[in-house]
Amino acid sequence: MKALVLCSGGLDSTTCLALAIEKYGKEEVLALAVFYGQKHRRELQAAQDVADYYGVMLKRLDLAQIFAESDCSLLQGSNAEIPKESYAEQLSETDGKPVSTYVPFRNGLFLSSAASIALSCGCEVIYYGAHSDDAAGSAYPDCSEEFNNAINTAIFLGSGKQLRVEAPFVARTKADVVAEGMRLKAPYHLTWSCYEGGETPCGLCGTCRDRAAAFAANGIADPALTK
Ligand SMILES: [Zn+2]
Repeated sequence: MKALVLCSGGLDSTTCLALAIEKYGKEEVLALAVFYGQKHRRELQAAQDVADYYGVMLKRLDLAQIFAESDCSLLQGSNAEIPKESYAEQLSETDGKPVSTYVPFRNGLFLSSAASIALSCGCEVIYYGAHSDDAAGSAYPDCSEEFNNAINTAIFLGSGKQLRVEAPFVARTKADVVAEGMRLKAPYHLTWSCYEGGETPCGLCGTCRDRAAAFAANGIADPALTK
């Protein structure tokens, strides 16, 4: 294996997976789906569907115990409602702190765990789908370019310079991600972004709103809504 891709079943990580497969070939790519104690598991099924579509191996990792004490509206331990406003509206009320759907240090823990697995499987790079819209206004500070550079350095040094971290969209918008995904013919019809776990996306949560805007910016309909 050459590359490990963090796969959440969403748009961004599916595009990362498509990029990694284009570069390394599907035989050299390992997908990793992490359960972190979220209220809904619909996205994990999407991750499996995407991995099956490409014929890559998907490993599942259960980090629910690590996040059991974490305060976040997405998690089972929280009674807080998942907000139905855009990230910009939410950020206007957080006093500079991340939004309530920010899972405390999630990407730090995901990437550290993935590093151990990646090294053991002989991978030289980990891909993950951070992009600049998620980092904007520090909604999700563990999606920022600064964070990415820092954790890349930590993992590179901590692995004896065997393993790098790449966030190919860290300086690009979600609309750019969709544009790249269309070039790669990524199976967006299989993906799931919504924070709610219903049969169809709610259309109102922050990530549904961002996803809709990214497709609209490309002038195309969301394949997951038209299938
Ligand atoms: Zn939603």
